[in-house]
Parts: sequence; structure tokens; C-alpha cells
Amino acid sequence: MIIFKSINKLNKEVNFKANIGFVPTMGSLHKGHISLIKSSKRICNKTLVSIFINPTQFNKKRDLKNYPRNLKKDINILKRLKVDYVLTPNVNEIYRDKKNAKIKLSKNDKIMCALYRPGHFEGVLAVINQFLQKFRPKHIFLGEKDYQQLLLIKKFIKNRFKTNIFSCSTIRDKNKVALSSRNILLNSNDIKKSSFIANLLLKYKSKIKKNISLKKNLNDIVIKINNIKNIKIEYLEIRNKKNLSKNYNKNNFKIFLAYYNKKIRLIDNY
Ligand code: AMP
Repeated sequence: MIIFKSINKLNKEVNFKANIGFVPTMGSLHKGHISLIKSSKRICNKTLVSIFINPTQFNKKRDLKNYPRNLKKDINILKRLKVDYVLTPNVNEIYRDKKNAKIKLSKNDKIMCALYRPGHFEGVLAVINQFLQKFRPKHIFLGEKDYQQLLLIKKFIKNRFKTNIFSCSTIRDKNKVALSSRNILLNSNDIKKSSFIANLLLKYKSKIKKNISLKKNLNDIVIKINNIKNIKIEYLEIRNKKNLSKNYNKNNFKIFLAYYNKKIRLIDNY
């Protein structure tokens, strides 16, 4: 495994004409990330994993400061997985080229996380843009856990780059909590609450699938979840899973959730 601290070096030493799979992450790796890496290893000849906590996608300074950092442990996981290349760039190198750094979202895209975390996806797209301008992987692997992000990156990449996108399903723990680097910041009691919420919404989803009129009960679910101590919903919405519009039927919807578990903001979709 070769660890590159600079994209310049990576570009000099790696042949991006080869069949390379790219897995961008912010580190604190868990089984969700690992499933992306394993997919890349299955499909591609070489796998590149980046670990970069992208400051421009954090709209709150404290969130950036508290974001978990576990580089040593991450490197060990990546070695064990026999990843070929790891990239741990620094902020200056990524954002040196300032004129390319700013990206705007369309008005229609300003929903859910884009609405509640102003600047967040602009930061996500900026870093993806910087990466893909500097090196051109054949494939990129992204998780459905961040579903809105996945659709926005798909749309962004489509007319700009030839990179092919693979989406990987959400990995959950045995209690149905979606794995997230932020879960490290929760204690077992907090996790129990997240598990209750995930199970409630998974059940609700299968009920709506059988009887779409039950979508009208969404507000009762909001009240039920908000009644849990130290839990506060930011949004709970049902949308079309192809285009995120509110025009959906029992076969093409997803339920999207963002909530605070104490001070930790979590997202999921079902
Ligand atoms: P992050 O490190 O949170 O930026 O995530 C890096 C990539 O891993 C993104 O494409 C995420 O969607 C994906 N990911 C994060 N959590 C999970 C999960 N529980 N299951 C599948 N993919 C995930």
C-alpha cells in the first residue's frame, strides 16, 4: 500500500488510464466505508482511498472541530484490506486553485440537507471537483447512506467527467442503525434511541409500500420521534427516490431523515 500526502505525487506515480476505483472518505472508517472499498476491489484493478476532512462542507466550525479523526487506525484498516493507494492531502493543495473552488446549487436542489446545511453540498461538490480535475479515476464509489449527496454528485459529474459512479447500499449495525463516523460520539443509550427510530421508520416504510395512503401519518411519526428525550428532528420527508420531488408512488419513494441525537446531527434514508 502506498500512502500519498500530495496529489501531485499521486499523479506522477499512478497511471490513471488503468482501471482505478476511487473511494473518497473523511476517515474514521467503519463497515460502511469498508463495503465501498470491497466493491471497488471487486470491480477495479486498483483501489484508491482518500481520507480528507473537507472543511468547506462544514457549515458549523464546532462540527468540523469535533469531527472524529483516527488516521492511524484507518491506515491499519486499509492495510489489512490490501488497498493499493491512500491519499491524505492537505487543505492548501486541494483549494490552491481558488477560482475553481466555488460551485452553486440550483434553486430546486435546495431541499433537505441543502436547505438546513447551507453551503454543505457546495463544499462536497467543490472537493469532488478538485479531485476529479486533478486525477481521473475510471470509477468512483459512493454510499446511499448519503443519498442526496449521491444524486447531486451524479448530476454534477454527468456532463463534466467520464468517471463512472457506483452506488453502494447502506450498511447498518445489527440494531438497524446506519453506520456513521459520527456514531463514535454517541453512548449506548443514544444508540438505542437511534435504533428505535430506524426500526420505526423501516416498519413505516413497509406499511406505506403496501398502502400508500398511510403517508398521511408522517406527522404522527414526527411527533413520536420528537417525544424521545434529547432527540430533535430537523426534517422527515417522503420523496421520489429518482429526482427527490414530492411526486412519488408506492414503488419509487424513500423516507429521508435528519435529526439531532443530543448535539450530534445524524442522517438516514429508508
Ligand atoms: P464519509 O466518510 O462520511 O464522507 O463517507 C464516505 C463515503 O462512505 C460516502 O460515499 C458515504 O455515503 C459512504 N458511507 C458512509 N456511511 C455508510 C454506510 N453506513 N453504508 C454505506 N456507505 C456509507
